[in-house]
Amino acid sequence: MFNRILGTFSRDIGIDLGTANTLVYVRDKGIVINEPSVVAINTKTGKVLAIGSDAKKMVGKTPMHIVANRPLVDGVVSDFEVTEQMLKYFIQKVHQGMFTLIPRPRVVIGIPSGCTEVERRAVEDATRNAGARQAFLVEEPMAAAIGARLPVQDASGSMIVDIGGGTTEMAVVSLGGEVVSRSLRVAGDELNEDIIQYARDEFNLLIGERRAEQIKIGIGSCWPLKDSLEAKLRGRDLVTGLPKEVLINDNQVREALSRSIRTLVYNIKGTIEETPPELVADIMDRGIVLAGGGALLRGLDRLIARETQMPVKVADDPLTCVVRGAGMVLEDLDTLKEILVDTQYESPPK
Ligand code: ADP
Ligand code: MG
Repeated sequence: MFNRILGTFSRDIGIDLGTANTLVYVRDKGIVINEPSVVAINTKTGKVLAIGSDAKKMVGKTPMHIVANRPLVDGVVSDFEVTEQMLKYFIQKVHQGMFTLIPRPRVVIGIPSGCTEVERRAVEDATRNAGARQAFLVEEPMAAAIGARLPVQDASGSMIVDIGGGTTEMAVVSLGGEVVSRSLRVAGDELNEDIIQYARDEFNLLIGERRAEQIKIGIGSCWPLKDSLEAKLRGRDLVTGLPKEVLINDNQVREALSRSIRTLVYNIKGTIEETPPELVADIMDRGIVLAGGGALLRGLDRLIARETQMPVKVADDPLTCVVRGAGMVLEDLDTLKEILVDTQYESPPK
């Protein structure tokens, strides 16, 4: 009863708790938060100094006693308490300026499909401890597929590949469930690492993660470009220890990324091989849909299309697919309840 009263003053929200970015969708309002999943902590006092965008600015620039970390490494809650604090912060931010003293919203939250029972509980507990009245879990690829407006509840196969920061998740969905799915740790972060490694091997140059990401987004590709792109790579010479700047072009970046991209394609093919033939035929018609920030890598759709002999599409606004999907589940809990993952405290609304 008490919960219900508090609940009426709260806004129901959908959350995409990504390894790289956390997005929050509020019922009737749309996406209100889109910030990096980073928390800065003072290790001397244990105090949280900053969360989200403010914390990201500190990454790689902190003194000894401050760490700016992503609490979700590889898609899994690796630091439970910090994740909880982050969720609490975002949930409270949504309710700022409202009359509510204690916000108790219903929350639909995405979890990686490779999640173990224990990890699933961790997310659910973190969400509840962060103030949720009810927490509904949805598998991320499923949320991404809904966000991409694929007909997930039909008796027809749809394939979604969500390339995030820490993990890539792919799934074939039909009749509201995942028929085949895979999760791998080759995703955006790994591509940044590839560029760091390449700079080290080819130019004896030490560069930071942020610079590597800028290069990836700025000139990265998987397919030869019509017009060549070039960027400056600034870092420290590993031999002299002094600052150095070199030029790197799209060709070189493609080479740097090639091994990880091959792994990605290999797993997409493997997923298709495991898919029942009827569903493969549906995917042939509809095309494989790419979501997540990694979907924006130039030419990735073309490469996957060539390798799989299937049509491939990049979802509209791929970075917000999961949270929009979570939002759509929220708006329509009755029809979509069957796609929710069972939770420990209560089953989805009947
Ligand atoms: P997560 O769901 O794990 O939080 P996101 O879907 O938010 O991940 O995607 C973040 C990843 O996408 C980062 O690794 C980022 O570098 C990458 N990314 C974002 N934009 C681009 C782009 N234009 N090209 C390639 N990669 C991109
Ligand atoms: Mg994601």
